[in-house]
Amino acid sequence: MAKIFCIANQKGGVGKTTTCVNLAAGLAQIGQRVLLVDLDPQGNATMGSGVDKRSLDPSVYDVLLGNATVAETRRRSELGGYDVLGANRELAGAEVELVGLDGRERRLKDALAVVDAEYDIVLVDCPPSLSMLTLNGLCSAHGVLVPMQCEYYALEGLTDLVNTIKQVHGNLNHDLKVIGLLRVMFDPRITLQQQVADQLKAHFGDKVFNTVIPRNVRLAEAPSYGQPGVVFDPHAKGAQAYVECAREMVARVKAL
Ligand code: ADP
Ligand code: MG
Repeated sequence: MAKIFCIANQKGGVGKTTTCVNLAAGLAQIGQRVLLVDLDPQGNATMGSGVDKRSLDPSVYDVLLGNATVAETRRRSELGGYDVLGANRELAGAEVELVGLDGRERRLKDALAVVDAEYDIVLVDCPPSLSMLTLNGLCSAHGVLVPMQCEYYALEGLTDLVNTIKQVHGNLNHDLKVIGLLRVMFDPRITLQQQVADQLKAHFGDKVFNTVIPRNVRLAEAPSYGQPGVVFDPHAKGAQAYVECAREMVARVKAL
């Protein structure tokens, strides 16, 4: 049975997509069967996996509206070693079109149920909002992984996300848990980052991944080559950290 995880944080530019793509590739490298679902109309996770978002027909949009199955829609990230349910601008329309449909927040969950036996882990890259798309991600998931930069304002946004997760947990999805906060884009030379990183660990304890993802330019360069960072430059510090994070994730999933 596949375990489904949302990579969510309503802030933009915090490393959700980078985490999703690199964890997918890292998990594939350690033998997991992975499906990446791109729920962001920007389609960055799709492109970063080496799948051209302009060539998608159908896309995850059609899956959410019930016009195509996951099996018809998924594409292979050959370099990454995982499958991709790709997104492009069309997905922005789903937000409005879903409103009138039955079970609008369970569309993704129902679609993924059909391929449940084919994957060990499904990673859902959420858009930077607490929208109907993110709600579909949260309703389908067993857990949420929250990437965070170690900055002063990081904790502020966390409260909104935790409240949304609590509401979804109480009303729509009793399975949902926060499986971890992941400290990303970390620069140990900045004292404030070190302090916030330590505070996060002290405050949230085991909820915080032991692995810390460093700020690493190779991770930022990889998408322009249509490759996950862990494939683009496996020796880079950032790549190695994501593979380590994948190992930690598998251990956490087993303990769920
Ligand atoms: P989000 O999906 O939350 O909007 P992204 O993953 O797209 O965030 O990251 C935002 C920007 O930061 C991108 O340009 C990405 O390449 C860069 N980035 C993300 N993680 C790292 C990292 N560990 N080191 C360096 N750059 C990073
Ligand atoms: Mg993103």
